[in-house]
Amino acid sequence: MEGQFEVRLDAPFYTDEHREWRDSLRRFIDDRLMPHVNQWDEAGEVPRAVHREVAGFGLTGLGFPEEFGGFSAGTDIFHFVIKAQELARMGAGGVATALSTHDIGLPPLIVAGSEEIKRRVAPAVLSGEKIIALAITEPGAGSDVAALRTRARREGDFFRVDGSKTFISGGMNADFVTAVVRTGADGARGLSLLLIERGMPGFSATPLPKQGWWASDTATLHFDNVAVPAANLIGAEGAGFALIMNNLNRERLMMAAGAIGAARACFQDAAEWARERETFGKRLVEHQVIRHKLVEMSRRIEAGQAYLERTAARMQQGERCAADIAMLKVDATLTMEFCAREASQVLGGASYIRGCRVERIYREVRVNAIGGGSEEILRDLAARQLGFDAA
Ligand SMILES: Cc1cc2nc3c(=O)[nH]c(=O)nc-3n(C[C@H](O)[C@H](O)[C@H](O)COP(=O)(O)OP(=O)(O)OC[C@H]3O[C@@H](n4cnc5c(N)ncnc54)[C@H](O)[C@@H]3O)c2cc1C
Repeated sequence: MEGQFEVRLDAPFYTDEHREWRDSLRRFIDDRLMPHVNQWDEAGEVPRAVHREVAGFGLTGLGFPEEFGGFSAGTDIFHFVIKAQELARMGAGGVATALSTHDIGLPPLIVAGSEEIKRRVAPAVLSGEKIIALAITEPGAGSDVAALRTRARREGDFFRVDGSKTFISGGMNADFVTAVVRTGADGARGLSLLLIERGMPGFSATPLPKQGWWASDTATLHFDNVAVPAANLIGAEGAGFALIMNNLNRERLMMAAGAIGAARACFQDAAEWARERETFGKRLVEHQVIRHKLVEMSRRIEAGQAYLERTAARMQQGERCAADIAMLKVDATLTMEFCAREASQVLGGASYIRGCRVERIYREVRVNAIGGGSEEILRDLAARQLGFDAA
């Protein structure tokens, strides 16, 4: 059998440094995280001590400046691809999400925050002591970001914030929330970024029980006349939309990498089971229908992996690749959906029992296909980028 059980690092984009990073990360995940992920998922929380341990290993700081406790020298986009795919092997997207909200919440602060904010927030987050979340979505607006309504009115040295955010990953435990608020007129140009902090009077959160990703504390955030210092403004007034869009392509690429990683985990479990389980006097893998399921899973995973790596390589060279990233994410989540279904069929009843990796992944399909840009929104984005909307 040829390598089906591993993420293959034989593509020309990977160096010995990537391979070493992958090996040490894999050992860390296998030893320190994997044995506990189901327990954390059932408990609905990743303990704070684990955030510190993961930071201590160096995972949290990947890609952030050294001066704030991160490490970026000698790293490139493939380190992130490896990170996303190794975490996806856990088959516990809630754990991966709980440990990664800083990857979306912190970059705008690093790019546009004041020195005071960077020094106060970034080292605390990158050491795993504090948690930061990104709050864009509202009860009345998700995909249509320009329609956000949470209002921040300037009053002297403060903004008064009123409104709510929903489906926010890390929202229950977040010490800091990078929130998109409306400081100006309707539309995208009226949006700004404001750092709202736990404990500010008028800021509260309620948990949202959900289909999957249990270990990630998803919440609705309520802002009732919250006084936020004007110094917590991230970037210029009106720059909020541009600042969040800045990071979105990379986030989508990582979601695609994770979805392909989750699909591969499904394939692995199905392939192992099919070789062991006997029905009607022969092993499952000896039934042609089952063999074809395995090949079909593998075919889609390897095609997706190749598209992922080619797109990552182009991004690494400075290309925007917006259409390809959009199509890649759609393709990756469809592959994840397909593989979760087919692996579940191959495992039979065992796949329906809690604690099984495929069972967890099955419950995480929809959030991958909807969050960070849904299939419909991304197809439309690709169509515009490719010029199909022209009259
Ligand atoms: C578990 C979880 C965690 C999340 N974490 C975060 C987070 O940390 N921070 C954050 O800000 N958000 C977060 N989200 C929100 C997520 O990004 C949104 O759910 C997503 O952007 C879609 O927004 P919506 O749910 O409001 O759907 P809507 O925008 O209301 O869309 C509903 C449906 O209509 C489709 N649709 C919308 N417009 C069009 C159109 N023009 N043409 C065709 N179809 C269309 C969409 O594709 C979707 O299928 C999270 C969501 C979940 C479920």
